[in-house]
Amino acid sequence: MRILVAEDEAKVAAHIRKGLQESGYSVDVAADGAEALWLAANHPYDGMVCDVMLPEPDGVTVVRQLRREGILVPVIFLSARHELADRVAGLDAGADDYLAKPFSMIELLARLRALLRRQRPGSVDQIRVADLELDLRARTATRGSLGITLTNREFALLELLMNASPKPVSKTAIIEHVWDQHFDSGTNVVNVYVNYLRAKVDRPGLKPLIQTVRGVGFALREVAP
Ligand code: CA
Repeated sequence: MRILVAEDEAKVAAHIRKGLQESGYSVDVAADGAEALWLAANHPYDGMVCDVMLPEPDGVTVVRQLRREGILVPVIFLSARHELADRVAGLDAGADDYLAKPFSMIELLARLRALLRRQRPGSVDQIRVADLELDLRARTATRGSLGITLTNREFALLELLMNASPKPVSKTAIIEHVWDQHFDSGTNVVNVYVNYLRAKVDRPGLKPLIQTVRGVGFALREVAP
């Protein structure tokens, strides 16, 4: 899951970036409204954390503009202002949630999880394909009765493939949702990570679930015998 953080206070932005990365998200940071608009228009973010008091244009204008352009990325507004009118303006602009500063990282993470969960059919915390189960809240993976230990990046990749299952996901989409904008897409890193994941998910003796779809990308599904 890749998140855009629009926040002009460098310290706050760094704090949010660190907290989100530690929870396995890929993060891009925009320091003003114009940069936030450009990034959100050019990358398919899974979610956005947006400060209301952003320089040029402000957060409410950014989200209103995104919605006008048909960009429906779910947004949590951050604001030091508590007035009801601001809250209403933010939600009217098309934000999905609102968090008053100062906030705790734990609360931001919980709100973000809830927001992302609402995007999924069934609003569940577990995704299951065949005997593979991913628990998004506990951040654990199991195949049958076997626990699988994943790095944050592997977890993000598996989550993306399982959410799309049985449809394939292109390498471009994998890069866009699992890595951040500083990633050099000229490398072979997607194949490398898919192979890491295969070694853990499709152990010898188990039915392989991770399929290479030639000319398209990768899919996670059972193949009929
Ligand atoms: Ca600010």
